[in-house]
Amino acid sequence: MLLDVDRSSTDADLTDAVTAWVGRHVPESWREASARGRAAIREVRPLADYEAWYPTFAESGLAVATWPRQYLGLDLRPNQARVLDSVLSPFNLGRLNPLGLNNAAPALFAYGTEEQRLRYLPPIVRNEEKWCQLFSEPGAGSDLASLATRAVRDGDVWVLTGQKVWTTWAHQSRFGLCLARTDPQAPKRNGLTYFIVDLEDPRVEVRELRHIGGEVDFNEVWLDGVEIPDTDRLGAVGEGWRAANATLAGERQMVAGAGSGGVDRIGGSGADRLIRTAKASGQWDDPLMRQRLTSLYSEESVRRWTNERVRATVKAGGTPGPAASIGKVHQGALNQRIQLAATDLLGAGALAWEVDVAPTDPESWARGLPYEVKGMLRSRANTIEGGTTEVNKNVLGEKVLGLPREPDPYHELSWEATPRS
Ligand SMILES: Cc1cc2nc3c(=O)[nH]c(=O)nc-3n(C[C@H](O)[C@H](O)[C@H](O)COP(=O)(O)OP(=O)(O)OC[C@H]3O[C@@H](n4cnc5c(N)ncnc54)[C@H](O)[C@@H]3O)c2cc1C
Repeated sequence: MLLDVDRSSTDADLTDAVTAWVGRHVPESWREASARGRAAIREVRPLADYEAWYPTFAESGLAVATWPRQYLGLDLRPNQARVLDSVLSPFNLGRLNPLGLNNAAPALFAYGTEEQRLRYLPPIVRNEEKWCQLFSEPGAGSDLASLATRAVRDGDVWVLTGQKVWTTWAHQSRFGLCLARTDPQAPKRNGLTYFIVDLEDPRVEVRELRHIGGEVDFNEVWLDGVEIPDTDRLGAVGEGWRAANATLAGERQMVAGAGSGGVDRIGGSGADRLIRTAKASGQWDDPLMRQRLTSLYSEESVRRWTNERVRATVKAGGTPGPAASIGKVHQGALNQRIQLAATDLLGAGALAWEVDVAPTDPESWARGLPYEVKGMLRSRANTIEGGTTEVNKNVLGEKVLGLPREPDPYHELSWEATPRS
């Protein structure tokens, strides 16, 4: 049941309401562990238990307190949501379904119909339906607007055909946000339309891709004449580029660590953990290692504070502006340096895996890799995913420094007439 608070509630009302809710609904062992910190919470709260309990959190409205009540929010002002968050913070009740919340929801709010919002937002909040982002293709990544997946209208449905790649969590998702070409004769950014694809459709094939760390995070997705009702179009025909940008802005914030999902690091652990490891192994006595780790720790702190500033701006109803791109560029490179330091601390241990594991089987040999090595391997993607560092620097150069735009000799040409990779 949604918490009984509203915009007229005082800070004291909010604190009382959420404290009472925690006492009633957060299991006792989790509450007790919260007094001993996040590591203690993780010990008593396996992910499966948290996922099973999560709908209780979602139904309270606390997961998305600033959203309207009809979509499982509490319709509170950002400063009121901060009061609730500060009471909840020690219990570490993280939001599940980050792509649903950070990528799909902004587009549904900005371009969805009321019918679409009522259908899709509550299951996102409850973590019942996960979402993925069907943008990149083998021939379209940084130059996303050149994508070739076709959508052809046939009465009340659109027929989609094409191949997507790099689709994070498609293998676990129910829906995908898909950018497809509806007018090949228009210039490349104008001929796109945004659709909601039901991945349970038999004409959608999701093929898992296993990455160097041995796990499946992303996929190839083949669309072979998938029929999508016009009611699952998001935004106007030909307006897909603008609608997709609502999703991309949310993604940049999330990957930079400034989204409501709070993904502060993708791959590995933080500099504070490295410092503890170095102290335990005696490497902290080496002044060069000490200097390296304290410098990483300082940089990570600065980045965290920058992210907090962006988060506060967003919660207060503002837009993150260039800070999200700056955060993305900085975070990618910093995390790679932190994860390299982690493997350096391991020394020869970083090279070893269990002897009985066949090195020819990527799935099983990767399972034997130390956690730090997996983190280091995963962090290689940080400067690519969510827009590469080079492309983000172009954006900053143009939007912040006011440098001239990158020349595009094909600007006025139709997509059909534009050369593609
Ligand atoms: C882990 C991971 C998860 C991902 N998840 C998703 C997802 O869920 N959904 C999705 O749609 N996509 C996803 N992507 C794809 C991602 O958005 C693309 O990989 C990225 O945009 C780069 O595109 P590309 O791989 O085609 O490289 P390319 O665009 O071919 O770039 C190759 C190189 O050229 C550089 N380059 C390209 N253009 C310029 C330019 N104009 N100026 C300077 N340098 C340039 C790039 O920086 C890069 O170094 C994911 C990628 C990764 C690594």
